[in-house]
Amino acid sequence: MTSKSISLLTTVAELRHYLAQFYIQLNASGPKFRRNNAFTKIGFVPTMGALHLGHLSLIQRARYENRLVIVSIFVNPLQFGPAEDFQQYPRTLTADARVCEQAGVDVIFAPSAQELFPMIALNGPVTQVVPSSQLTERLCGQSRPAHFQGVATIVAKLFNLVQPQRAYFGRKDAQQLAIIQRLVADLNFPVEVVPCPIVREVSGLAYSSRNAYLTSAQSQQATVLYRSLQQAKRAFYSGCRDRTTLITTVEQELATTPDIKPEYIELVDPTMLTPLVEVEDTGLLAIAASVGSTRLIDNTLLHNRKPIVAIDGPAGAGKSTVTRNVAKALGLLYLDTGAMYRAVTWLVLQSGVSVSDQDAVAELVEQCQIELLPTSDANTPPRVVVNGQDVTAKIRSLEVTAQVSAVAAQPAVRWALVKQQQRYGSTGGIAVEGRDIGTHVFPDAELKIFLTASVGERARRRQQELVTQSIATISLEQLEQDIEQRDRQDSSRSIAPLRKALDAVEVNTDSLSIAEVTAQIVTLYHQQFS
Ligand code: AMP
Repeated sequence: MTSKSISLLTTVAELRHYLAQFYIQLNASGPKFRRNNAFTKIGFVPTMGALHLGHLSLIQRARYENRLVIVSIFVNPLQFGPAEDFQQYPRTLTADARVCEQAGVDVIFAPSAQELFPMIALNGPVTQVVPSSQLTERLCGQSRPAHFQGVATIVAKLFNLVQPQRAYFGRKDAQQLAIIQRLVADLNFPVEVVPCPIVREVSGLAYSSRNAYLTSAQSQQATVLYRSLQQAKRAFYSGCRDRTTLITTVEQELATTPDIKPEYIELVDPTMLTPLVEVEDTGLLAIAASVGSTRLIDNTLLHNRKPIVAIDGPAGAGKSTVTRNVAKALGLLYLDTGAMYRAVTWLVLQSGVSVSDQDAVAELVEQCQIELLPTSDANTPPRVVVNGQDVTAKIRSLEVTAQVSAVAAQPAVRWALVKQQQRYGSTGGIAVEGRDIGTHVFPDAELKIFLTASVGERARRRQQELVTQSIATISLEQLEQDIEQRDRQDSSRSIAPLRKALDAVEVNTDSLSIAEVTAQIVTLYHQQFS
């Protein structure tokens, strides 16, 4: 989080002036700072306001990955049809500004419609961006014919104004995401589109600004959308890949709540949006339905790959042992991120580079190739190979242990290793633990767990460990203080802060054995995926 105050800008001129100042300051801060890939970028989150936890997840991700975070709040008249809720759409700028400020946003850009589209009020011509009809004619495009043209136009306009290097979009609006990705590719916008997972209420209902229109009974009824997608997902993971069965599964579940009126249930390719007869690689199962006069959408991605299990939590919650056991029980690869940091540390030490020379370390890590090679015996951890050399034993040396924290704390090291970890995860089938695995490294992980334990319990476990290792005993009180302090540091640091992903399942391990915790996670996995 930044301590700097947030800027609320409402005109194009103010935004341009702000950005010009930002680049002047950036250039003045020297080449070293500019080169650091992770922190010289502008991250942009376009929204229509009435911010909720779905928006917040995009903002948090942008905050994590960029030096400057800009959130736009603009209810775009072009994307509403004549009979739609443009006038009624919730506008809550004061509350939104508070959310953004707390999340460390640098700039809110909240122009008026008059500022961005002065021609509309004069009934004059407005240039618009027309996405390919192949992407707009199906799904929501059937009932909202001009909607995506309005979306593409405002996004193109905001990209031109903000000139971000990264822009964050929710998977909740899957058709919108596909259209924006196509827009960026076809018109060569120099922007990386970052898709973010759907965030849901505990009931399963996806957060939406339009949920404000629902009565509490309707909110309850609307949870059937998620349940129907989950049913289909279970069918998918138990081997059903064909369109008819998947769509029928959703239909049957939706039919259990007669007040929900489906508009469409579709299975399409997530990029081309063309209907799929069968899911070969990835399918997008999408629903639009009404409850009363409110139209809701939801969807799920069906990946033809083994799931990723991401386990986060504070130190001392038992993450590494549990994750190892979960991987073994489920036949997943245990992605030992700690071993990867150790491998880089070994490389730094043996190349003679000083650990504190961040530039030299950055160069080494950018060029290094780490492989984790599973052994044939499930009880033996994977072999660790760096640039072709087997370092499995070497990375456990005292020298590496003493330096690994200093190396792992460097932004460039984290940046490079997170990319390597994500490559490992691209084919699924891994269990991985850490502090920001579900929030940052694998935000699309199919199962996210947040392991916790009370401070008292973690102190007691640590004391037991020290006794077992015959290390001088430290009082419980002292251990509790140390743990509290570490928790504070872990949650507030700018690199890999400890945070529970909004879609993670929390498992409190107080009074549970490692075997019991493992069994709980394995059960959760089987409930969803088999
Ligand atoms: P909106 O304000 O509705 O235009 O949404 C702004 C951005 O937030 C879009 O990229 C949406 O996909 C995203 N978003 C909205 N609801 C959610 C949600 N429940 N989970 C994740 N992203 C969301």
